[in-house]
Amino acid sequence: MSSSPSFIQVALPLPLDQTFTYSTTGPIPEPGTRVLVPFRREERIGFVVGVDADEGRKGIRPILAVLDPEPAVPPAQLRLARWMADYYIAPLGIALRTMLPAVLSDASRDVVTLTGGEAGKLRPREHRLVEALAARGGPQSVRVLRKGLAMGSIWREIRSLSARGILSHETLPPRSPPVKTERIVRLERWIEDLEELDGLFGRARRQAEAYQALTASGGTVELAHLTGQAGFSRSVVKGLEDKGLAVVEDREVERDPFAQIPVDGGPRHEPTARQAAAIRTLIDTVDGGPSEPFLLHGVTGSGKTLVYIELLSHVLAQGRGAIVLVPEISLTPQTVARFRARFGDEVAVLHSALSDGERYDAWRQLRAGHRRIAVGARSALFAPVADLGVIVVDEEHDGSYKQSEAPRYHARDMAVLRAFQEGALCVLGSATPSLESWHNVERGKFSRISLPDRVGGGRLPRVRLVDLRAERRAKSSDGAARSEGGVVLTPPLVEAVRLRIERGEQTILLLNRRGYSSFIQCRECGDVETCSDCSISMTYHRLTNRLVCHHCRADTPAPSRCLRCGSDDLSFRGLGTEQVEKVVSETFPSARIARMDVDTTSGKWSHHEILGRVERGEVDILLGTQMIAKGLDFPRVTLVGVVNADVGIHLPDFRASERTFQLLSQVAGRAGRGRLGGEVLVQTSLPDHYAIQSVLDHDYQGFAVREMKERSDPAYPPVVRLVNVVVSSPNADDAARNAEEAARWLRGRLHLVSGVDLIGPAPSPIERLHRRWRWHFMLRSASAKALGDVSRALQTGFRPRGPDVRMAIDRDPTALL
Ligand code: ADP
Ligand code: ZN
Ligand code: ZN
Repeated sequence: MSSSPSFIQVALPLPLDQTFTYSTTGPIPEPGTRVLVPFRREERIGFVVGVDADEGRKGIRPILAVLDPEPAVPPAQLRLARWMADYYIAPLGIALRTMLPAVLSDASRDVVTLTGGEAGKLRPREHRLVEALAARGGPQSVRVLRKGLAMGSIWREIRSLSARGILSHETLPPRSPPVKTERIVRLERWIEDLEELDGLFGRARRQAEAYQALTASGGTVELAHLTGQAGFSRSVVKGLEDKGLAVVEDREVERDPFAQIPVDGGPRHEPTARQAAAIRTLIDTVDGGPSEPFLLHGVTGSGKTLVYIELLSHVLAQGRGAIVLVPEISLTPQTVARFRARFGDEVAVLHSALSDGERYDAWRQLRAGHRRIAVGARSALFAPVADLGVIVVDEEHDGSYKQSEAPRYHARDMAVLRAFQEGALCVLGSATPSLESWHNVERGKFSRISLPDRVGGGRLPRVRLVDLRAERRAKSSDGAARSEGGVVLTPPLVEAVRLRIERGEQTILLLNRRGYSSFIQCRECGDVETCSDCSISMTYHRLTNRLVCHHCRADTPAPSRCLRCGSDDLSFRGLGTEQVEKVVSETFPSARIARMDVDTTSGKWSHHEILGRVERGEVDILLGTQMIAKGLDFPRVTLVGVVNADVGIHLPDFRASERTFQLLSQVAGRAGRGRLGGEVLVQTSLPDHYAIQSVLDHDYQGFAVREMKERSDPAYPPVVRLVNVVVSSPNADDAARNAEEAARWLRGRLHLVSGVDLIGPAPSPIERLHRRWRWHFMLRSASAKALGDVSRALQTGFRPRGPDVRMAIDRDPTALL
């Protein structure tokens, strides 16, 4: 059997900048095939990425097993992975792992079975293995066998025995999880009357709070969440049960709600003239062969989804497939539902709540061509859709398309690339395109299609500003809704909400900051409570009476005295959604309120529950963070109120204005989507800021022109390109020193590449995160190639020194914090 070995290159999903050479005596596996290899003292799954001509070296180890009958990664995706690894300065093995369902990088599902072949002469180790298999009977997991035998790796034996037909080896697909139940607490009675509530609870404050927590989450909460994260004791819950307000029961863990959306549900719209023209252009482009990407710039409510759907329908009719990316799938159930409704089982919905097994199933169905449309968030870009005809990136400006860990890719940019590589059309849609895409249109790299009007004769809502500075000076008897910290809802907003409640219409209130108060400050000494692991102020959560770090989730009981000087004169500053909810419920006691932010949506499907209640008209006021600004389409929402537009506008980040403009425009776009029309009220202390002014007239163009000017001097993307290098360490000195050394090392070499500036180093705006001190510097250039060369040189040539010092290279960063 033994022929002379061949040598292959294997990429391992490890933070190492190289591939490794292994030998094999069998047929050479094709590139993209997974193999099991010995690495140091372990076994690892790697990907064959090429053959190695360098056969002379000694000490090359053989692979342990070939895991795929045909490559797990098809050639097109291998090419994409190479490009991604190269551009984002990430190891190829990690790029490949990112593209595949997790189970394919998991070695534990390998099983072997005795096939009863003639055993013949066995070596001692082989003998032990065969004995163990015979003793146990039936197929055995390699991992379990290996543990039981305690003789190190058994792959060499498995290979040799299976080559002789004594046993067989296969990689099993993951099991689908059994039906699971969970304990939940469900509200039995909804009490609208505040006085009745007060009477009921008396001094049982925790019960009242638990009751509120239940109503805020839509009436059902997992018991574990209530007694865990939310911090209520079991006896508090018992109290609610005794009062007949809530029941504790077992519920089947909900099945994927996307799987249950009926096909062909809902009305099928005839495209408007504008939509029809857009559809025509895109279809002609697809039929005409490879093309530049298109930016579909359509105002909120212009009916972009129908354009995508008609385009997909054309592509499908040609027997080709499609990928649709949406920002965060749990927040865009309506968009996803429309695709399911039209295309039914052709659609694989890839969302984060899928189990590993379900994800693997979806992957295989796409790979086999049993489903031809993948809809999902960022990583759905890597769906193995064969013969790709189109990639749609909806809400292409959205920040969630950028991955924050290696590979730090941007799914929008990768979509453009993948479409190009596979001869597909890429369509980027948004009402508020990123400046990058707008710039690409201006430079002629993208084509643009505009949908300037809302469908069905709907008009964009009127936007009014309310100057918070003037309102803060006003008397307290003026009809504003206040809290300890001051005005929460100004009189015009209070009036507007009251009107909606009277008319039975719905209101959306946005405040992009969760918790009760974003910080607690001592009036005596000025001290602010900050997280001991991050240089971030701790946010006060009233429901649990705790301080929480919104970066690392550390939490402590809220202090009643200043930890520095002992004074009890603490002020609660910086309004959060929890406080707004309290004020709103006091101001409008009869209103049914739902709050949607990270704290009320910890359950798998809590987004669905809350949005479902809004859709069914069971909610008068939906209040929340940026979660409620994305893609929602509720015709009965006639008022959008922005509680404070200035949150985030002063962050030390060159995109702060752009983000503010996008968020405000998007949330404004939720108003007036039905025949009832709509209105938007924006409370701000910066009524003259151009990002806020542009929202008034829905003036994207005006904003973009002004913002481009701001980005020219000093130059920021998209005028130039950036790389942000963050050096971090548990030790402050190590972080600073290594950042400075890295910068010095680079400066010594920058004369070799012209046109790259190095800015910094300096402490990161958030100096400390998760106990790590952080320094950063930036590389800036008009040339992508030069930046790539310099970054790669840094990655391979510079070694940080000191214990646990890390250097992260973030290309095209979306946040500099
Ligand atoms: P966008 O994503 O551009 O904000 P949507 O695609 O969500 O807009 O469409 C807004 C609303 O208009 C949806 O309720 C959709 O069903 C409806 N709609 C879309 N196209 C038409 C049409 N041609 N006629 C009537 N209603 C339409
Ligand atoms: Zn103090
Ligand atoms: Zn923290």
